[in-house]
Amino acid sequence: MTESGTPTGTPDPMVIRHLEYLGPMATIDGWRPEITLPEIAFVGRSNVGKSSLLNKLMRRKSFARVSTTPGRTREIHFFDVNHQFVLADLPGYGYARISKERKAEWRPLIEGYLGTSPRLQGVVQLLDVRHDPTNDDYVMMDFLADVGVPTIVAITKIDKLKPAQARARVEELSKRLGLDADQVVPFSAHTGAGRDELASALMQLLAMPDWRTTEEE
Ligand code: GDP
Repeated sequence: MTESGTPTGTPDPMVIRHLEYLGPMATIDGWRPEITLPEIAFVGRSNVGKSSLLNKLMRRKSFARVSTTPGRTREIHFFDVNHQFVLADLPGYGYARISKERKAEWRPLIEGYLGTSPRLQGVVQLLDVRHDPTNDDYVMMDFLADVGVPTIVAITKIDKLKPAQARARVEELSKRLGLDADQVVPFSAHTGAGRDELASALMQLLAMPDWRTTEEE
C-alpha cells in the first residue's frame, strides 16, 4: 500500500490510447455490446466516488459523465479501453433516498449481468474509507463471492482522513472483510493516490487465466 500519488519516473501501467463509449444496457434482456473482449465491472453504492475514480483511472476529466446523466443512472455503461478490455460501469446501488422496494431494483440488472457475462474477468468493488460497509455492500460482496469472480476492492476518498488514520481504516476494513493485501487498493481521486496501483491490478487481472476454467486449489 502506498499513499503517495503517481511515483515519478515509473512507467504508467495503463496508458489510455483509446477510450470509446459503446452504449448502455438497461435490462438484462436488453442491448449489450458484442462479447469480444474481457470485461471488468465497477460496482459501488451511489456517491462512493465511482465516477471520480473512473475519470482518474482513465485520465479523463469527465468520461464517466454519461452514467450520471438523469435517466441513465440505472443503466450499465460500457466502454472499450484500448481495444484491450471492456469497462462496465454499473449503476450505483443503495441510494438512501429511495424507498425499500425501489432500493432492490438494482439487483436483477446488476446481478444478472455479473452472474451471466461469459467474459467477465474481474470486478472492482468500491468502498468509502470513512463509512462501514452498508447492508447493500455486503449483499454485493456475498454475491461476488458466490459467483467466484476475482474481485479488487478500491477504498475511496482516502484524502478525507489523515494518512495514519486512512492506513488504519484500510487495515481494519481489509481484516473485517477478509481481504488479502493484494486485493485492496486505497484510492483518492483528489490526489491521484492509488491510480497506478489500481491500473496495475487491472493489468494483472487481465493477464490471469479464465477463473471459470481454473480448477480450485
Ligand atoms: P459516484 O456517485 O459513486 O459516481 O460518486 P462521485 O464520483 O460523483 O463522487 C461523489 C462525491 O464524492 C462528489 O462530491 C465527489 O467530489 C466526492 N469525491 C469523489 N472521490 C473523492 C476523493 O477521492 N476525495 C474526496 N475528498 N472527495 C471525493
